Amino acid sequence: MIKIVFMQTKVKKGIIEIDIERCKGCKYCILTCPKGCIELSSNFNSSGYYPAQFSNSEKCIGCTMCAVVCPEIAIEVFVEE
Ligand code: SF4
Ligand code: SF4
Repeated sequence: MIKIVFMQTKVKKGIIEIDIERCKGCKYCILTCPKGCIELSSNFNSSGYYPAQFSNSEKCIGCTMCAVVCPEIAIEVFVEE
């Protein structure tokens, strides 16, 4: 007899903070985010770059990939368990 067990996995919820003054607008975080949570702002920062901004925040799973790829160390990730 085959026994099927359904396991419920809790999806993590994440929030990121982007330091827009450190951001150079390279888009690495945008290209890396698996959930499409980051986009470029339409406003310049003080260095003249369009910085990344957190959007679609309800979809963030706190995977930290955006922070890992950011060459400017401009992203912090906070995860709710
Ligand atoms: S933590 Fe993961 S899901 Fe959340 S914004 Fe960064 S790359 Fe996207
Ligand atoms: S990877 Fe870092 S520097 Fe590049 S756009 Fe994202 S936050 Fe800005």
